[in-house]
Amino acid sequence: MNVYSCFPEGTAKALTMSYDDGRLQDERLVDIFNRNGIKGTFNLNYGLMEKGEPWLARERVRELYQGHEVATHCLTHPTIARCSMVEAAYEILEDRKGLESLTGGLVRGHAYPNGSYSPEIKQLFHQLGIAYARVGEPKGDYELPEDSMEWHPTCHHNDPELMEKAARFANFGTQKSLKLMYVWGHSYEFDDRDNWGVIEEFCRYMGGRQDIWYATNIEIVDYMEALNRLKFSGDNRMVYNPSAVSVWLQIDGKKIVEVKGGTTVNLTK
Ligand SMILES: [Zn+2]
Repeated sequence: MNVYSCFPEGTAKALTMSYDDGRLQDERLVDIFNRNGIKGTFNLNYGLMEKGEPWLARERVRELYQGHEVATHCLTHPTIARCSMVEAAYEILEDRKGLESLTGGLVRGHAYPNGSYSPEIKQLFHQLGIAYARVGEPKGDYELPEDSMEWHPTCHHNDPELMEKAARFANFGTQKSLKLMYVWGHSYEFDDRDNWGVIEEFCRYMGGRQDIWYATNIEIVDYMEALNRLKFSGDNRMVYNPSAVSVWLQIDGKKIVEVKGGTTVNLTK
């Protein structure tokens, strides 16, 4: 019997977005995401947000990013690889604490400001409760990250081949592996280049598809962890899901089975 892991509801493709710096233009971007059912992660600098425009007001965070993910981008946007480990620890923890006070939830994601990081910083941030961290250099393989503390996006939204890349992703049929498309940028770039049409077109094209899971970055990380925790019987016919959330499996190339949290399921039935 062949048992393949799936994304929620038996899908095999996930789309996620990641936008940095928490400027006022996030209002317009979130509206575009919401109209198309697309989910994003927003990486914010708590220490900069008290300055007012062009940063979003802290009071807007909870309501604006509802249904999306708020993640860290360090307290004051330093080039972190040039900082001492003490300062790096302060920058990440104070940002976490500040953003958690605004959202009322846990903040566990990160994007490295100025794309700057090192092996020591990856280790430090992970030990300080960061589950994943995004870098700037794209990797167009549509694969899940090998190293979650060095998560390469598929492309920036200004990639001249954005729509070709979107079409390639949308047209993946039955896959051997789970596929991910991950787009990043800054919402103020749409004003700078006067090209809001780029993201409008992308979201219209990608949204509303039955075979795509629209997820935030942390939802993907947490879901993959739940999949990896599954315990299979020796004959592969039974599975125990020790997590609190459901995971989905595909049996012999067709049947989709939901394995609810805390349950053991006979996959042959
Ligand atoms: Zn930034």
